[in-house]
Amino acid sequence: LFISFEGIDGSGKSTQARLLAEHLRERGRDVVLTREPGGSAGAEEIRRLVLEGDKDRWSPETELLLFTAARRDHLERVILPAIAAGQVVICDRFADSTRMYQGLGRADLRGMVDQLHELMIGREPDVTVLIDIAPDVGLGRALSRGGGEERFESFGEGLQARMRDGFLALAKEFAARFVVIDGGRGMEAVAGDVAHAVEARLP
Ligand code: C5P
Repeated sequence: LFISFEGIDGSGKSTQARLLAEHLRERGRDVVLTREPGGSAGAEEIRRLVLEGDKDRWSPETELLLFTAARRDHLERVILPAIAAGQVVICDRFADSTRMYQGLGRADLRGMVDQLHELMIGREPDVTVLIDIAPDVGLGRALSRGGGEERFESFGEGLQARMRDGFLALAKEFAARFVVIDGGRGMEAVAGDVAHAVEARLP
């Protein structure tokens, strides 16, 4: 089973991915918790190239190619072997983040994103949990957390709002695999809903 978490920065998706991993492990499942951009040695190097450099270092198209290369490496080396071994893979962000950030964020590249996905990735999660949150709440949380990898200086609340609407539109586009959870509540209430939604889909 392959589960992804998606949402805007500060939505709480990383916390929720971790809580779901703990919950499923307590129930005896063998879980691999991983993340994008990154998740394999090579993909983590690419993450640094993109997120730690000067924000205009790469054109939107080159950034898309780099993130696609990172995903391909992560898929080949971590995700597919784990699925083949019968493990549950929980991934903090996957291709839907590229549909949003590279496909809609810096430039309108959704057509190119879809072509590259078909050519090089060709795999969707079985379940995608979208942690939905108001853009100002997400931005406030993410800015107070710091960490230095967030890309808000150039993006700001306007982009957060566009990304939120974009994720909700993706949830409709891929309705069969998406579960939308209201992330504007306490951590445990959100985690309870996530566990419930995922358990309903476990084989
Ligand atoms: O989810 P995480 O905090 O690790 O993401 C790091 C930064 O990279 C975030 O600011 C996120 O918006 C951005 N990002 C991106 N394109 C992606 C995935 C994440 O610009 N495909």
